[in-house]
Amino acid sequence: MMSIPPRIGFIGLGLMGRAMAENLLKAGFNVSVYNRDRSKTVPFAEKGCGAASTPGALAKMCNVIITMVADPAAMDAVLEGPAGVFAGGFDGSLLINMSTVSVNYTRKLKDRCFMERVRFVDCPVSGSKPLAENGTLVLLAGGEERTVEEARPVLLAMGKTIIYAGPAPAGTALKLCMNLIVAGLTSALAESAALAEKLEIDPKLIFSALSASPALNCGYFKMKERNILEKDFSPAFALKHMLKDVRFMIKEAADRGQRLPVTDAIEKLMTKAARAGGGEKDLTVILNALSESAKEVP
Ligand code: NAP
Repeated sequence: MMSIPPRIGFIGLGLMGRAMAENLLKAGFNVSVYNRDRSKTVPFAEKGCGAASTPGALAKMCNVIITMVADPAAMDAVLEGPAGVFAGGFDGSLLINMSTVSVNYTRKLKDRCFMERVRFVDCPVSGSKPLAENGTLVLLAGGEERTVEEARPVLLAMGKTIIYAGPAPAGTALKLCMNLIVAGLTSALAESAALAEKLEIDPKLIFSALSASPALNCGYFKMKERNILEKDFSPAFALKHMLKDVRFMIKEAADRGQRLPVTDAIEKLMTKAARAGGGEKDLTVILNALSESAKEVP
């Protein structure tokens, strides 16, 4: 653990970040927050947390910064520029990025941290909103082993298991490999439910058979059952974020000479659902894009 007590600055109080910051507070850590939309900091300020008006001001108050924002553009918005984390007063401290970004972005961020004398842990998470809420996320950590060890108590306030993947960007690489499976499972569930309707059986039977099967009784299927059966797409994981990740997978694979034909098809389906207005909804909204009336992606 850090020789001086961690003063944590948490950036990004979205669906995941809000729950993760709350778990840090419950574990007794000293937490201050920043969020672009300041209204999301109010519940934290009411609990006595510091709420900074800029990421740079937050970094000056803290020796650990955790980022849980949307994508590389959001990372740059909070890290760079005169009001960003790197603007001054954060050297010698620790940055833990838990947002999902690309492998190429994480590699650049690792170098940037080195130049700024900031220690870095590349730690995206596996698990969605309910797991963030009950502190059971799986933490996919990349970085120097001793830095990951130092961050361990902070990380374990947000998740139950740390998988050490190797030097950064290995955490991000593992995250993209994991999300490839989640994208495939979601597409399989949606297509299976669409097929069941055409074959005039109740799609609920699919979930009954899945949970009765020792091989296919999977927590993810249970988590998504209500979304698929009730066509309730209130977001636990927004389609726009999975689409971002699928595009990272395809680009990173192509850069290294690997084709991902199934993921390519899933990207088209997800793009279609996003263009139909589903981007902010749960990724299971791809079910709607399977209907014959949904417009084809050119
Ligand atoms: P979210 O609810 O959409 O929250 C996104 C956060 O990023 C918000 O705090 C938002 O601020 C901030 N943000 C977006 N653009 C910004 C910008 N340009 N400048 C500053 N801040 C910006 O997303 P989430 O579901 O919490 O996911 C966060 C990250 O974790 C994403 O990378 C996602 O892929 C990944 N992830 C999500 C899940 C999941 O199941 N939800 C699981 C694992 C990993 P505002 O409040 O001001 O908009």
